[in-house]
Amino acid sequence: MSFYAWAVAEFRRAGNFDSFTALSLTYFALLAQRVRCSVPGARFGTARCSGSVDCTVSGRSGISLLIPPMIRCSLLLTAALAAAIPLPSQTPSQPDWNALGDETVRVLSDYLKINTTNPPGNELQGALFLKGILESEGFEVQILDTAELGKGRGNLYARLKGDGSKKAIALVHHIDVVPSDPRYWTVDPFAGATRDGFLYGRGALDMKGDGIVHLMAMLALKRSGVSLTRDIVFIANTDEELASTGALVFVDRHADLLKDVEFLFTEGGNNPIRNGKLEYYGIGVAEKRTFWQHLTVKGTPSHGSRPTRQNPVPRLIRALHNIAMFETPLHVTPGVQKFFRDLSRNYTGERRTWLANVRAATAIPRARSWLTSDVYWNAILRNTVSLTVVNGSNKTNVIPAEATAEVDIRLLPDQNPERVLAELQRVVGDTAVKWRTLLQPKVPLENPTDTDLFRAIERAAHERDSTALVTTPMLTAATDRPTYRKLGIITYGFSPFKVPVEDNQKGVHGNDERISIENIGFGVRFLYDVLRYAQ
Ligand SMILES: [Zn+2]
Repeated sequence: MSFYAWAVAEFRRAGNFDSFTALSLTYFALLAQRVRCSVPGARFGTARCSGSVDCTVSGRSGISLLIPPMIRCSLLLTAALAAAIPLPSQTPSQPDWNALGDETVRVLSDYLKINTTNPPGNELQGALFLKGILESEGFEVQILDTAELGKGRGNLYARLKGDGSKKAIALVHHIDVVPSDPRYWTVDPFAGATRDGFLYGRGALDMKGDGIVHLMAMLALKRSGVSLTRDIVFIANTDEELASTGALVFVDRHADLLKDVEFLFTEGGNNPIRNGKLEYYGIGVAEKRTFWQHLTVKGTPSHGSRPTRQNPVPRLIRALHNIAMFETPLHVTPGVQKFFRDLSRNYTGERRTWLANVRAATAIPRARSWLTSDVYWNAILRNTVSLTVVNGSNKTNVIPAEATAEVDIRLLPDQNPERVLAELQRVVGDTAVKWRTLLQPKVPLENPTDTDLFRAIERAAHERDSTALVTTPMLTAATDRPTYRKLGIITYGFSPFKVPVEDNQKGVHGNDERISIENIGFGVRFLYDVLRYAQ
């Protein structure tokens, strides 16, 4: 590569060189006498040497360069070249949105073809796929934690540099997907197939689709030369769907890579379409805490033909019955109060009044039964307890030595786990039932909304739907967000897509998971704008 070609490549790569740097690189390129006074290539126009301009030029930094007589006539070339470089003061070129949308669909289809079902995960394949794309676009990529996470696993990290004047924004997704049973799908879950305007595949919504939108929005920012004050950090994690070891190990071992990160986007937000209409843009700022319990009752094994009082099964069933009949109290957290108040705009009459002050409404029996008839609303208004796993004997004629059960408890963010457990033990009222915590709750997740990034989302959302509601629904499930929040990073659940509630219900962890082609194009442009507005 000639010195000149190198200098041009440098300009294009960095995108945010100041004029002085641009001029000096050109100056040295000219000194190397690799260029003449005409402009090579149409990209730089048709500037020619005039021979009459002054031989001193100033860059934006105010430092002057002396151009020696031998290249005096090159000034116009310098100006033309500098003009061709996307400098901060210049309007960056807009991406070709149709082409970018098509490219995003192609890349996502290829990513969906990589089977990263967890267990075993095999996320390294996915990470290497992402690495290939990033490296071909000039990124330095690190595949991390391969030894700690085990065979075929790893985390990926890359960064698009800004000028460093503000703190970074991280885009985080998980590479793994939950298992799928092809018998219940109408397409192969790993074919990356398109049909009737939809791209199908395990992970299309949870959350390879988000990951590829993160990737392509970041590439688009780089390609179009938008000047960035904030670095954009791209992270792909292993094992979110099972034990979250990817995020845990990443945060544990690489806090240094995150020390300048102010904001982080990952799953946990949604923009639901209900009855063909966008309900709201939902930014996830809080989530419930998982607090799983294991229950055991010991007994004396014997023959099923001679019933005894030492059979542990009826005793366990009595305990579970008490739990099932127990109604946890309604409790309105500040974030949930705000969510319902925002939502009240979409209602009229008494429902509007109830939603506008949901804390007061929970004391009104009719309001209460209406609010809790929606499974999502019910789940964000109280701690929930679901009886899920039950084990007694594995043979009809055998009274077992023990009976066990597992209970899925989800706590509101401000609840004390010990107090909730003590309450459930009181409800069961049987000391023969032994409780063991299977999963300790993560740190409570609550995030501020008075931030540059939140405002950037609002702006981008309102540009698309001027009357749309932008609000903060609480996630009832768990994500890796608390793991990152521990470092002080503001972590938002953000989805770039507008997804019909039926598709979410059916596809996420279910069958025929899919995302519309239109949504993919929408998503990449939406995120691109959010990241631009947050600068
Ligand atoms: Zn997920």
